[in-house]
Amino acid sequence: MSVLEIKGLSAGYGRIAVLHNISLAVEEGHVAVLLGANGAGKTTTLRAISGMIKYSGQVLLDGKDLKGLGPDQIARLGVAHGVQGRGTFVDLTVEDNLMVGAFRRKDKVQIAEDVERIYQLFPRLAERRKQKAGSLSGGEQQMLAVGRALMLKPRVMLLDEPSLGLAPVIIDTLYEALQQINRTLGTAMLIVEQNANLALEIANDAYVLETGSMVVTGTAAQVAANDAVRAAYLGH
Ligand code: ATP
Repeated sequence: MSVLEIKGLSAGYGRIAVLHNISLAVEEGHVAVLLGANGAGKTTTLRAISGMIKYSGQVLLDGKDLKGLGPDQIARLGVAHGVQGRGTFVDLTVEDNLMVGAFRRKDKVQIAEDVERIYQLFPRLAERRKQKAGSLSGGEQQMLAVGRALMLKPRVMLLDEPSLGLAPVIIDTLYEALQQINRTLGTAMLIVEQNANLALEIANDAYVLETGSMVVTGTAAQVAANDAVRAAYLGH
């Protein structure tokens, strides 16, 4: 069974229709990437999954229909949404931001172990554990957003353009960490990216949205080899 499945989903804002009958699935332990140009509806898809906007169609987590649940309930069920622009609490320390991520958990010993594991993944966060998140660089804040999402022990992580605005060397560090998280913890991920080359490298499956419709789906290798995708998104 897929961890996350979207079936025939349509959504928008008021009278503006953005997504038209789209379907996608994230399999257990897989990384799926959602590609598309500016305004294609990628962020809107993530908002629908995490219960931030209304939609028609179905969103299933481990086969359970999420319709009607609020963002908080959906997060508790195991959908961690790392928002575009990061969304860390700037006045809290790095460590307190991580603890916020563990809000639904009561296993104190394990929580402490998980914090240490995140510090191993991102040594920069360990060095800055007592610093306020607002004083971190963009790359460090993105690492913190990923770390906080992990503290939820999610079934699936939704990441909205994690590479946005970061220097290439930081992007590499971040993507290496995402790959390591996926491989060692088996966390399923749905990653929205404009940087298609990068995302396809770590993805198992790929989806391409164009003006709210799903136009290409397949394995990451199939999608990377698709001529139209290469011309429009991969630049080669
Ligand atoms: P980007 O990479 O620019 O974030 P995207 O593929 O994530 O693009 P969305 O942010 O999902 O695209 O936006 C899809 C469409 O929905 C756009 O036309 C956008 O203007 C519109 N839209 C997004 N948010 C809202 C909102 N809160 N109210 C009204 N329209 C919105």
